[in-house]
Amino acid sequence: MVTRAPIVTIMGHVDHGKTAILDQIRQTNVVAGESGGITQHIGAYQISYNGHKITFLDTPGHEAFAAMRARGANITDTAVIVVAANESVKKQTLEAIDHAKAAGVQMIVAINKMDLPDANLDRTINDLMTHGVYLENYGGDTLWCETSAKTGEGINELLETIILSSEMMELTAPVDVFGRGIVIESQKDSRKGVMVTVLLQEGTLEKGDNIVCGANSGRVRRMENEREMEIAKMGPSDVAVIYGLSGVPKAGDILNKVEDEKTARQISSERQNIRKEREKFQQKTNLDNLFQRIKEENMNEVKLIVKADTDGSVGALCDSFQKLSTDEVVVNIIRSGVGGINEADVNLASASDALIIGFHVRTNNAAKKLAEEENVGIQIFQIIYEAIDVI
Ligand code: GDP
Repeated sequence: MVTRAPIVTIMGHVDHGKTAILDQIRQTNVVAGESGGITQHIGAYQISYNGHKITFLDTPGHEAFAAMRARGANITDTAVIVVAANESVKKQTLEAIDHAKAAGVQMIVAINKMDLPDANLDRTINDLMTHGVYLENYGGDTLWCETSAKTGEGINELLETIILSSEMMELTAPVDVFGRGIVIESQKDSRKGVMVTVLLQEGTLEKGDNIVCGANSGRVRRMENEREMEIAKMGPSDVAVIYGLSGVPKAGDILNKVEDEKTARQISSERQNIRKEREKFQQKTNLDNLFQRIKEENMNEVKLIVKADTDGSVGALCDSFQKLSTDEVVVNIIRSGVGGINEADVNLASASDALIIGFHVRTNNAAKKLAEEENVGIQIFQIIYEAIDVI
């Protein structure tokens, strides 16, 4: 076992200074880079302060944190909750606190914007207390510090606080095992191919290693840090962009080093099969559930969204579906129209608990993805009477 760097997430209300603090810490100007359209942003980076390493997840906002957690990836050790001293505790501050508490991570409060004339430290501390966050020296043991991301005041203190709290946690990881990490971000670059930002949780990973990641496999062709410099090896809590995977994995997917290429291929193809099977099964259960719910929950309405390739088909389908209504169950078409199935359709279906029926149309990729996430049933038909039969 080796001591590993703490993995830190920054959360808090919008505009309270999360990005500015990360920016100060990295001492480069993210905002300027983004406005120029070029970004080295890889979702995480590691710094070294007084010989101590700290890994920051550079995806501010608790949505990212919650999404990772929903996927079972509890990777954060410490959550820095940023509260602007001029605005004090706000809605998203409370959400961030809830997320940190629910995840059971170490919480550090950074009371930011202390340079502003209307900064009100006492009010902020009191508001935090009202919401169950008791700061050190104010009746509790939550570590905290005052910062200004504008002047840089207190940033070093924040880093020292993070190091102190990580020492208290005694974070370790095995190093002499096959590397295992988690995907923070991934994308396909038209020039560079599949780029995957990986945070290694244990073991080591080297150039040339065979890897499996979600349903993808490959070999580490190149690893680079956030400055696009090539690195040869990574260990626990290290972050790198990895090139060489066959496809684009999802954030939260696990990456594993495996013995050889054959094993990598085997595992990834098995996972692909499982994924396909699951998709088939999920589509069917939506309709199955419908029957069950009509019976068991006395559901008296089936809501449909109908999309077809022509006006004529839309009309014919809607007429036929409505005629299927019985005394017990009414078919209610909440939206109908010509064209492919898009995100707006899925959102409406999700919000209204409706089923989407498509006839000679396609579902766009964004809508497919959303439907998967929201568990919305989409059925596409090529023959009218089959659609009527099913409904
Ligand atoms: P985020 O939404 O939490 O990431 O907030 P940002 O980091 O984007 O900051 C929002 C605005 O507040 C920006 O205009 C920052 O320049 C400003 N800001 C952030 N921190 C401070 C601070 O400590 N003092 C002052 N005066 N402004 C700050």
